[in-house]
Amino acid sequence: MLAEIRRKVDARTSIGPQEAAWLFEHASDEDLKELATKVKARFNPVDEATYLIMAIVNYTNVCVARCDYCSFYRFPGAADTYHLSTDQVCERIDALTELGGQLVGFNGGFHPDLRVDDYIELFRTVRQRYPQLAFYEMTVAEFMFVTKRSKLSYAESARRFREAGTRWITGGGAEILTNSFRMRHSPGKYEAEDYYAAQEAILDAGLGSTATMVIGFDETLDERVQHLVDLRDFQARTGARMPSFLCWTYKPWNNDLGGEEISTEEYLRWLAVSRIFLDNIPHIRASVLTQNERALEGLLYGADDFDLPTEDEVTQKAGATISHQFEQVLAAAPEGIRTVQREPWPVWTELQDAAK
Ligand code: SF4
Repeated sequence: MLAEIRRKVDARTSIGPQEAAWLFEHASDEDLKELATKVKARFNPVDEATYLIMAIVNYTNVCVARCDYCSFYRFPGAADTYHLSTDQVCERIDALTELGGQLVGFNGGFHPDLRVDDYIELFRTVRQRYPQLAFYEMTVAEFMFVTKRSKLSYAESARRFREAGTRWITGGGAEILTNSFRMRHSPGKYEAEDYYAAQEAILDAGLGSTATMVIGFDETLDERVQHLVDLRDFQARTGARMPSFLCWTYKPWNNDLGGEEISTEEYLRWLAVSRIFLDNIPHIRASVLTQNERALEGLLYGADDFDLPTEDEVTQKAGATISHQFEQVLAAAPEGIRTVQREPWPVWTELQDAAK
């Protein structure tokens, strides 16, 4: 099996799902690193990795979805719910700028009282106040919920966001994108086909989006592989408009699902399999948010980019720890790989316009 996979990688031919599963279960770490680095070299220098400093601003913890793996949400009416005012959001952004941050990702719960116009108003204000920053304004999952609450189609909602100045609606809230996983853990959130329909509408409106995955719940290897299969197919079918794939790990504290945290070694092996399998996505991103400085070992397993996060209540509530000692994190880069702070990426429409 390994010889055939190596032949495919050398010939730039995609590997299949059984081969992805075999790699994860049987390949040595050295073989995974070698194959992932070969695929990485098609898109990125192998001796350089890039990073951004960013904050995830969790504007509300009110949520009606009740995902059992979530440590962050509070059902409407609970005593410790919150919904940040615009000024409070700006205080969080100010804290990021003091740390040299470049990007703000917004992420909140499915708040039943919010509508598309509420988001548009918030985003318009922060863009005006912080023109030097880039914004990931919401995740696909939040987009789906607020679009339905606003009684709009995905196409119409995405068009309104685009016209209001939104650039990115990123691929968060995907976890494991199979309906078997969704039925077990978050039946109130969405079905997998619906997620992809929403993401396609976002891309078709000219907005940028990204791919994500979270591992380490109780998902089967088949479910993990299916996530990659559907993602690669979606990227191929929609014209390879997503620049990146980010994988992070479930933290099992303070929620209904609980369980054990998977090892960093398992995470790194899956990162390599993802790099080898997703041969139509240019950037594979490692998660400092959930692996701390050990995430930089992922640069040997096919990853080429990462964030230095300054805050994210969702993962911190679940047990993640965040360090602002950026130099210490960067010092963990493997020998032979230099780290470079980059500018936020343009969305695909901006790249097209620049090429004209
Ligand atoms: S994961 Fe997101 S959608 Fe699910 S309960 Fe938590 S905040 Fe709500």
